[in-house]
Amino acid sequence: MQNGEVSFWWQARGIPPLRPPLPGRTDADVCIVGAGFTGLWTAYYLKRADPGLRVVVLEQTFAGFGASGRNGGWVTATLPGSRSRYASQHPSGAPGVRELERRLRETVDEVARVCQHEGIDAGLVKGGTLTVATTAAQDARLRRRLGPDRSWGDEPRIVRYLDKTELATRVQVTGAVGALYYPDCARVQPADLVAGLAEVVTRSGVPVYEATPVTSISAGLARTPAGDVRAPYVLRCTEGFTAGLPGQHRTLLPLNSSMIVTGPLSEDAWKTIGWDGCETLCDEAHAYIYAQRTADGRIALGGRGIPYRFGSGLDHRGQVAPSTVAQLGRILRRMFPMAVEAGLEHAWCGVLGVPRDWCATVTLDRSAGLGWAGGYTGHGVAAANLAGRTLADLVRGVPSPLTTLPWVGHRSPRWEPEPARWAGARGLYALYRTADRLESTRRSTRTSLLARAGDAISGIPD
Ligand SMILES: Cc1cc2nc3c(=O)[nH]c(=O)nc-3n(C[C@H](O)[C@H](O)[C@H](O)COP(=O)(O)OP(=O)(O)OC[C@H]3O[C@@H](n4cnc5c(N)ncnc54)[C@H](O)[C@@H]3O)c2cc1C
Repeated sequence: MQNGEVSFWWQARGIPPLRPPLPGRTDADVCIVGAGFTGLWTAYYLKRADPGLRVVVLEQTFAGFGASGRNGGWVTATLPGSRSRYASQHPSGAPGVRELERRLRETVDEVARVCQHEGIDAGLVKGGTLTVATTAAQDARLRRRLGPDRSWGDEPRIVRYLDKTELATRVQVTGAVGALYYPDCARVQPADLVAGLAEVVTRSGVPVYEATPVTSISAGLARTPAGDVRAPYVLRCTEGFTAGLPGQHRTLLPLNSSMIVTGPLSEDAWKTIGWDGCETLCDEAHAYIYAQRTADGRIALGGRGIPYRFGSGLDHRGQVAPSTVAQLGRILRRMFPMAVEAGLEHAWCGVLGVPRDWCATVTLDRSAGLGWAGGYTGHGVAAANLAGRTLADLVRGVPSPLTTLPWVGHRSPRWEPEPARWAGARGLYALYRTADRLESTRRSTRTSLLARAGDAISGIPD
């Protein structure tokens, strides 16, 4: 089994030779730091709107090296944040949040549209998403969620409860007692998507300078060892890596997520499991897992693993602790016993950016020319597209319905300094794992008090 090497997704398509680094001191109209989905979508929409703009992208490693080339491949419309927190802090209130959610749902189709228009083959299938309950407490939480979802104006089209028989007609998950189905999610091969997008952006005349680490960002200036880039607009699109930039240690917590993938399953196994609709799938545990049936007939499954490294430390090219691989393997065997025969072929991990209040931000300070977007809390694949379109409109200063959405200009508090940050993140996931264990050993429909305490302390949205 391969461990690390960025991700299975990258190994499956092959990591390409590096694009040339920044040749030296450069002037541009817009300088984007980070070539993940946020940076690349921003470049894409800027260039389409104004082909004459001189846009450059600076990337420390290669385009798609970060979470964008390692994720679970859910193009999900899930709101990256708390509805009530956005509503209480933005003048647009609840209607503004509903509009942001509507835009996120549209974004799933926008990503599919661009893939088709630009000829990016990323195995995209819009099959919706299933949140599966495997305990009575999880099932009760799902059923309760139908209430608040509807009171926020959700229609049955948007979320639907499936009992275990109906769920089994879609996917056979051992131990499932029910599920929620949301139609607005697509499955992709994320490295194919980010690599295709980087190609399209490069072809449109935007240089993506790789092996070019930015050492500091200030008004009008991004510094690199190869020389400075001067631009009226500098956009920080570094999500889980942001803590590595001067002055940003406490802006976003790099939360780790780990994944495993099986070998291709046999036809017999797929006949038993089903999953022909290619729905993305997660469970309702507090330390939840997420999964997809890949385009080449494997199961890719992810979960938290070691949640956080002291001092906002990062993994080494996606290498995962053996204990995490074993833990995810146990969950896979429990939910999909038929997958065991295919064996595990690869494990990897990556970091996603989490703000202290778990609410994402898209922002531009026009006077300083500094902007950034991120903090999608693990729901960044579609959100980065909407954020990129919004950053592009903010930079161009055009009237746009996107620039008034409630995440624009949102300010999250800073994270606590170490060692409180480390102790908090580790403690929280220890609480969640204990809560999950307790809930699985009893029939009660009540959510464990430990998990409630964890939610209250951390500020994780419902
Ligand atoms: C294992 C895992 C599973 C996930 N699953 C899902 C999922 O299924 N669905 C979903 O919606 N979200 C998921 N996410 C989250 C999602 O992948 C991210 O939110 C999203 O990809 C963020 O995109 P980004 O461009 O903002 O950041 P990234 O993709 O992390 O890109 C940031 C880029 O900036 C570069 N960079 C950083 N610092 C510098 C610097 N100083 N100089 C130059 N370049 C720099 C990095 O090398 C990187 O390429 C997952 C994340 C992980 C880690």
